[in-house]
Amino acid sequence: MTYNMANNSLFRQACLSGGVWIEAKEDGVAVHNPADNSVIGRVPRLGAREVEQAVQAAQKAWPAWRSTPAKERGSLLRRWKDLVLEHQDELAHILTMEQGKPLAEAKGEIMGGAGFLDWSAEECRRTYGETIPSPWGANSQPITIKESAGVAMAVTPWNFPFALVCRKSGPALGAGCPIIVKPASATPFVAIALGILAEKAGIPAGVYNVITGNSGEIGDAVMKNPEVRIFSFTGSTEVGKRLLAQCAATAKKPAMELGGNAPFIVYDDADLDLAVEQAHAGKVRNAGQICVAPNRFLVQKAVHEDFVRRVVELGKTVKLGNGLEPGVTMGPLVDRKSVENMVSLVRDAVDKGARVLLGGQEQPAGSNFFQYTILDGVTPDMRVYREEVFGPIMSITTFTDEAEVIRMANDTEYGLAAYIYSRDLGRCWRTAAGIESGIVGVNEVGVGAGEVPFGGMKESGMGREGGTEGFAEYQETKYILLGGLNRAFSK
Ligand code: NAP
Repeated sequence: MTYNMANNSLFRQACLSGGVWIEAKEDGVAVHNPADNSVIGRVPRLGAREVEQAVQAAQKAWPAWRSTPAKERGSLLRRWKDLVLEHQDELAHILTMEQGKPLAEAKGEIMGGAGFLDWSAEECRRTYGETIPSPWGANSQPITIKESAGVAMAVTPWNFPFALVCRKSGPALGAGCPIIVKPASATPFVAIALGILAEKAGIPAGVYNVITGNSGEIGDAVMKNPEVRIFSFTGSTEVGKRLLAQCAATAKKPAMELGGNAPFIVYDDADLDLAVEQAHAGKVRNAGQICVAPNRFLVQKAVHEDFVRRVVELGKTVKLGNGLEPGVTMGPLVDRKSVENMVSLVRDAVDKGARVLLGGQEQPAGSNFFQYTILDGVTPDMRVYREEVFGPIMSITTFTDEAEVIRMANDTEYGLAAYIYSRDLGRCWRTAAGIESGIVGVNEVGVGAGEVPFGGMKESGMGREGGTEGFAEYQETKYILLGGLNRAFSK
């Protein structure tokens, strides 16, 4: 299946810094299509000098942008979102080419990204401060105002390369902060396409910037620069922890969206049709490469046999292939290393006693495709239970009662998402309250949207994206005390 990127008006092999496009040279970073390993294009190999320039440009753009009335910033964001919707087909094709997900899913991600911009366009007009009852009496009045916190740096991963850039850029721009985006090297082109649309929308130069290159060098330069006030990272816990430590040098405001190991709990009173359908959807989507993907399927003994039989039946319908081909429901993994990791996770589980009920193999050998896989009899000593799988492996473990499953759910250093399936509201509530995670889906696996606070506890990170909490990451609260109010004014 081929697609000619040259005909796509949003495909540009360049970075955007301070309104200036920097074209990729021949030694630029190659970006591959994970479906066939072909080179789609190249992006510039920028380093510390260009980071410095981008920060200067963003810093220069800041005063005018933060003092632009929120209503106007909102209009520009809305125009940006409208352009995303107008160009959704082109954006989705770039996304599938660089990331691999099926085209229908890519379109869903574009719509999700547009939703983040849309919500930010509205929310920026409502970021109110407070008037606080004065503890000192009528002579004074404490108030708070919300101010733009300064230049923001966003580092994003390859699994949702469009939506996650929107999820950071929407509130940043809405709050009056210019942003510099460093997308994952594997998937930079949709973030660049957003730059083309930002210009078209009339967003001023220096307000939305995209830079690419060696992540370590870019990261070091950003961390040393005191003018970058906010550091918003989405990626692995390992890299996030290192960057969090580096934020301390210039006391940047960090927002860390890291890895997860979500339990998917199926109680014996669950609506099993719903649980099976959503377990399958949650695992197949993006080939399981989602931070909030269900990772450990914890199934109560009484319904285990039924659940297993039905997820296996549904699993057989998965059609693996190039995401541009009609009918394909699951694309490749991001790279060869991910496939090798799946192979080794399955081997470790089988060696320790798990049974492969479906898949379990790379396909075809040497490519980036891995079969949709179901493992039963998974136990806590297996890597597939302990690690963030980030691939299409459903691993099933049984439990006996509520107390046990809450203990099992919390038996991880992660705390991002959890899912509970039951028709007993009290049981759902008690379980949701007992689980240490930032997000709990009760009888629902699709949890993301612009309106809701998304983020984790424990080693899954800090801060929230989306909702009013997500806006606050890009704002400072300033407390102003008005004193001397009972003194008459005299010259
Ligand atoms: P990753 O290896 O941590 O990379 C994420 C981003 O960090 C990429 O842009 C990468 O750039 C960059 N990076 C790596 N080292 C850096 C450094 N020293 N300084 C600055 N930037 C650096 O993660 P990934 O493999 O792309 O993404 C998968 C992970 O993201 C999973 O753990 C997943 O759970 C997590 N994730 C979390 C959420 C959430 O909301 N909690 C959402 C999606 C994904 P290069 O690509 O150029 O190396």
